[in-house]
Amino acid sequence: MRFNLIFFLFITAYNSSLYAQTKADALQDIRIDVIYLASDYLEGRETGTKGEALAAQYINKRFKEIGLLPKGDKGNYDQPFDFVYSNNPHATGGEERTGRNIVGYLDNGAATTVIIGAHYDHVGRGAFGSTYLDGPVIHNGADDNASGVAALLYLAKALNSSDWTNNNYLFIAFSGEELGLYGSKHFVKHPTIDMSTVNYMLNMDMLGRLKENTLVINGAGTSPTWKSSFTQIEKPALDIQTHDSGIGASDHTSFYLADLPALHFFTGSHEDYHKPSDDSPLINFEGIYEVSQYILGLIAQLDGAEKLTFSKTKDEENRKASAFRVTLGVMPDYASKGEGMRIDAVLDDRPAQKAGIEAGDIIVKIGDKDVKDIYDYMEGLGAFQPGDSTTVVVKRGKKTLKKKVSF
Ligand SMILES: [Zn+2]
Repeated sequence: MRFNLIFFLFITAYNSSLYAQTKADALQDIRIDVIYLASDYLEGRETGTKGEALAAQYINKRFKEIGLLPKGDKGNYDQPFDFVYSNNPHATGGEERTGRNIVGYLDNGAATTVIIGAHYDHVGRGAFGSTYLDGPVIHNGADDNASGVAALLYLAKALNSSDWTNNNYLFIAFSGEELGLYGSKHFVKHPTIDMSTVNYMLNMDMLGRLKENTLVINGAGTSPTWKSSFTQIEKPALDIQTHDSGIGASDHTSFYLADLPALHFFTGSHEDYHKPSDDSPLINFEGIYEVSQYILGLIAQLDGAEKLTFSKTKDEENRKASAFRVTLGVMPDYASKGEGMRIDAVLDDRPAQKAGIEAGDIIVKIGDKDVKDIYDYMEGLGAFQPGDSTTVVVKRGKKTLKKKVSF
């Protein structure tokens, strides 16, 4: 979508107000944030590119005007991280790049902090992670995930003037999500607050397509408190579908793996997922506002509660884009550069774990199919039906092991 700068500046100036925001104000902010972040000017916000830097600049400006304290590195909002970019999974090297998380803090002088996050990077012109195969075209990523960032900014503004002050709030716009959760993994390894004070984490990824008032909440099993809290939120009346697993294809996974209660809010997949057609005209802006209200309701609900208890979940793979009849029950390491497919995590009680496959193992063969990368792995899996058994060959350190897997 083309972006009109003059119109944007006019609206921003017009909208400045010292008063608590009305729904109309909030919706206007949400529209502007999504339309700007998903404009062609930002070229699909691929991590480490000019488009990502422009998006980062915009979020910096928004955090500042909302009144958040910088909580990245060196007194800035930015928390940079280095990585090697390659769109060829067979390559050993690649291009050295720097991405950045944007981190802002609302300090209520409380003992505990709630982390609220949304990734702002997307797949650029589709060299990596696109489901569109007709050449390089800008992927604007309006739903994925300008929508979540707009909700993040709305929540920051709302919480800054709320009475729910029993927690501090840390707002993180992550980068590197599409390439393999780089930004959230980096934050968990290099946190800018004391992680033992973190109460819980809320991740918003793809909130722009609310249909029939259905909101999906992943990670509902990561604390015994979640489900009873959901039932006590009266407004807005959304049809809530929960999934227990703390492991999924977005940034909450990094926090779950650090033993923190973590949720992922999601309005569902659609045919424009990771395609150039995921653009602003198809966004349900009112839906983003409704889901944000629901999240505020949850925060309010938990404001007087004790620090949440973490619970490990029976994990299931995220099936948002999967058409397979069988799964192994592993999280692939999307960042791995070597030959084969490295496993980041093994889910409990699924075929891989039952066969004795471990995190860190590298799958090099499934049945007759040699596995050089994640695409071979998916093709290999596609050959099986529930009830089938096969041999999976993995490398563990210097050893090569054969494991019998039943689907
Ligand atoms: Zn996303």
